[in-house]
Order: sequence, then C-alpha cells, then structure tokens
Amino acid sequence: HSKTSGKNDFIIYSERLESDVLRKMELEVQLQKAIELNQLSVHYQPKVHLQTKTIVGMEALVRWEHPHLGMISPVEFIPIAEETGLINEIGEWVLRTACVQSKQWQASGYPPLLLSVNVSALQFQNRHFCEVVSSILSETHLQPNHLELEITESIVQNITESVSILKKLKKIGVKCSIDDFGTGYSSLSVLEQLPIDTIKIDKSFIDRLSRGSRSPMVKTIIELGLNLQLNVVAEGIESSSQSTILKEYGCSIGQGYLFSKPINAQHFTELLDALYQKNEFVF
Ligand code: C2E
Ligand code: MG
Ligand code: MG
Ligand code: MG
Repeated sequence: HSKTSGKNDFIIYSERLESDVLRKMELEVQLQKAIELNQLSVHYQPKVHLQTKTIVGMEALVRWEHPHLGMISPVEFIPIAEETGLINEIGEWVLRTACVQSKQWQASGYPPLLLSVNVSALQFQNRHFCEVVSSILSETHLQPNHLELEITESIVQNITESVSILKKLKKIGVKCSIDDFGTGYSSLSVLEQLPIDTIKIDKSFIDRLSRGSRSPMVKTIIELGLNLQLNVVAEGIESSSQSTILKEYGCSIGQGYLFSKPINAQHFTELLDALYQKNEFVF
C-alpha cells in the first residue's frame, strides 16, 4: 500500500511541477507583450505621517492584468521579469508612468508628495540606471527631491558598486530607501556605509505588534534608524494599536491597509480630493 501511495505522491508532485513550469513559461511569453498591449498599470498606496495623520507620499506598485490569466501578482511576475531581463524595460515604464502621474497631481494643485518607486537589484545595477533616472526626471519635470527609490538589502552583495550608484543618485537629488528592512543579511557595518535616507521596516516585524503586543526588536530597529539619522517608515500597518506603538517607539511614517490599500490613479485622485476637502490632508 505504501508503495502505491508513494508512487501516486510522485505523480501528483511531478504533475504539479510540470504545471508550475508551464505557468512560468506562459507568463514569460505573455510578459514580453504586456507593456505593448497596455496590460500593466500602476497603483498607489499612501504613506502617512503617524503623529499628524497627514499624507506625505505614496508608493507606486505595478499591476498586471492579463485578459485571460487575470490579475497576476508582482510577487509572481517580478522574479520572472528579473530572470528574463525584462525588468529593465518594466521598471523604466513604471518609473516614467509614476513620475508623469505624480507631476500631474502637482499640476492639479495638490501639494507635492514624495513618490516612492521600487527598483529591483538588477535594474539598480544596470550601467544605464542613473542616466535613465535623470532623463525621466527631466522629461517629466518632476523635482528630484520628490522622488524616492526603494531598493532591497540584496544590493549589498555588491557593496562598492552599490555605494557608488547611491552616491550618483544622491548627486542627482533623488532619495533612497532600504525596503523590507530587517529581512536581508546586510551587516550593521554595511548599513553604516550606505548613503541612504530611509529604512522601511518589513511588514513581518510590524506583524509582531498585533493586538497591542510590544516588540523590543521593532523598538531597536527604529532606534537604530533614528541614531543613524535616517527616516524610519513602517510598512504593512493594519491596526491602530500597531500605529500607536510605532508612534511611541519614534517611527514617524507608516503605510498599510489601516490607511489605504494600493489603489489605481483615479481612486487615488478621489482620495486626495476627499482628504483635501477635509483640509490639511488628514486621514
Ligand atoms: P513591497 O515593495 O514591500 O510592497 C509592499 C507590499 O505589501 C505590496 O504588495 C502592498 O500591496 C502590500 N501591503 C501594503 N500594506 C499592506 C498591509 O497593510 N497588509 C498587507 N497584507 N499587505 C500590505 P504588492 O503590491 O503585491 O507588491 C509586492 C512586491 O512586489 C513589492 O513589495 C515589491 O517587492 C514588488 N513590486 C511591486 N511593484 C514593483 C515594481 O514596480 N518594481 C519592482 N522592482 N518591484 C515591485
Ligand atoms: Mg516597496
Ligand atoms: Mg516593502
Ligand atoms: Mg515587503
């Protein structure tokens, strides 16, 4: 009996493996045409000053809606884009689209917000990356200090090169943030060498504050950031008790479903309108 079930397990496993491989191949093929066919869009999620509850910025998050395959998560397709090299083109498209949109919001009279755009390690290390950033900024007339790039700790695998890119970006005038902070393997001495402006604490740490629990680890990460004179942002805040503890620990900026999910440009405009009518952009 055990033999048969083992064999069945193997068949099920290998069928699953095969369908995973097929799905990946299909996505690879479809992703090539996604930009051209207008299947990509950018959603925006507000960042909020925790003390005053005012909106201070928004993160651009790419979305892919395929006519037959439906919504495909960036968690699934960004790694595929990285493997195929398509990330350069997709990343550039997201950056341009978000900069154009952000400038448009400013032009319609909303106060300038800090736009954050995710940049994958591969894109960051591309020889032309800094030139691409500067040309998009001049093309869209977005002020460099209104743009922040979110990179992950994985860039520290190439520390010398990364520091030199970060210095170039600083010279251009854009801000840089370490995304998903605490989940990577960067040592403290490496962190100290990086010319960055912000650390964004990963959601997995914020989850530890659920139902009012305290966390010495989260407190320490926030203090580390503040002592290094960095801005500290918390991602994935879902409850007001989490927000209260974060405030108490000195974290100034937060993002999460408590305030808003990522929403499309039209809905984000409506959100800005609602906040504006209430005055002062307060949540
Ligand atoms: P990330 O940059 O850490 O973005 C935060 C993710 O957490 C987003 O998922 C967001 O929707 C989700 N999130 C925000 N607040 C909450 C919350 O309160 N609760 C929960 N459960 N989730 C929350 P999303 O949009 O699916 O993106 C996932 C990841 O895909 C991003 O993680 C980022 O690493 C990557 N990504 C998304 N857009 C881009 C892009 O344009 N370029 C690159 N290179 N990567 C991107
Ligand atoms: Mg991010
Ligand atoms: Mg993040
Ligand atoms: Mg994250």
